Amino acid sequence: EIIQAEPINRSEESIERALRPKSLRDYTGQDKICEQLGIFIQAAKKRNEPLDHVLLFGPPGLGKTTLAHIIANEMGSQMRQTSGPVLEKPGDLAALLTNLQANDVLFIDEIHRLSPVVEEILYPALEDFQIDIMIGDGPAARSIKIDLQPFTLVGATTRAGMLTNPLRDRFGIISRLEFYSTEHLAQIVTRSAHLLNAEITPAGALEIARRSRGTPRIANRLLRRVRDVADVKYKGLISDECATEALSMLEVDPQGLDLMDRKLLETLIHKFDGGPVGIDNLAAAIGEESDTIEEVIEPYLIQNGYIQRTPRGRVATQNTWLHFGLSPKSQNNN
Ligand code: ADP
Repeated sequence: EIIQAEPINRSEESIERALRPKSLRDYTGQDKICEQLGIFIQAAKKRNEPLDHVLLFGPPGLGKTTLAHIIANEMGSQMRQTSGPVLEKPGDLAALLTNLQANDVLFIDEIHRLSPVVEEILYPALEDFQIDIMIGDGPAARSIKIDLQPFTLVGATTRAGMLTNPLRDRFGIISRLEFYSTEHLAQIVTRSAHLLNAEITPAGALEIARRSRGTPRIANRLLRRVRDVADVKYKGLISDECATEALSMLEVDPQGLDLMDRKLLETLIHKFDGGPVGIDNLAAAIGEESDTIEEVIEPYLIQNGYIQRTPRGRVATQNTWLHFGLSPKSQNNN
């Protein structure tokens, strides 16, 4: 079983790569960001300079990595990819930086998790395209400066608030990705279905889009599972009927909340009487990391009015009580 698990994961990953749009024109939604980036990229190319450093933030699966690839493509340069936790020593980052070609894009995912000593290397690199490296140790140690090719750093983070100020200040372009509208997700699902050679009706695409938590990665994942049901039971046609059946099998409810969403909301209501409850208590009660709640689960629930963040903790809204067929707390108390 373990031997089989890997190739399956790899094929899911390669499908995800295949579905990735490669140009700004193919990138659906995030209109403001695309418009701005389009102009900044054109200007940089005209001057034959690298694009200014870009910080992208927002919940996972909204298209930060995709956008970094697109920036490199549109600049006509290469992209190197790494992530904050992978860069353990200053030397790891120095090796990457010294190998960059002029106007390359260096993408650092989870940039808020860079260690302070590694981050230190980054400052002069971003500002002056130079790094200082220590050679030798003890009394013979000395620092030497190495010139780098001009490059663009694209940093991605789920939490802009976790970045240190000196790092944040070195990005010329800071963009916050928003959850996608149902219409945009339906376009993404339709495009992906075509790339997968699957037949889909507009209503089928809308049904998947409505239940994807505003997130393209989830939309594409649900599409692949719905396609399985279509192939087995609906002669390969993804209709709204097929989508509805597949999604309820996957335990995504009609409002698009998944198992984790419901577990969190039900715990908030039943264990904590709707709150307020601190994030750590909530995390312990559902057996999740509080980071996962804050970065992955909660943003969508807050945006859609199921949870409120107050100084005293998380509170369920009237919506949430109604979602589970209960009468809201304020009425219970009367
Ligand atoms: P992040 O880096 O923010 O976690 P990714 O860039 O890896 O997200 O995107 C996840 C998947 O969603 C990608 O494989 C891509 O196919 C799809 N995707 C993301 N944004 C878009 C978009 N704007 N248009 C079409 N597909 C998208």
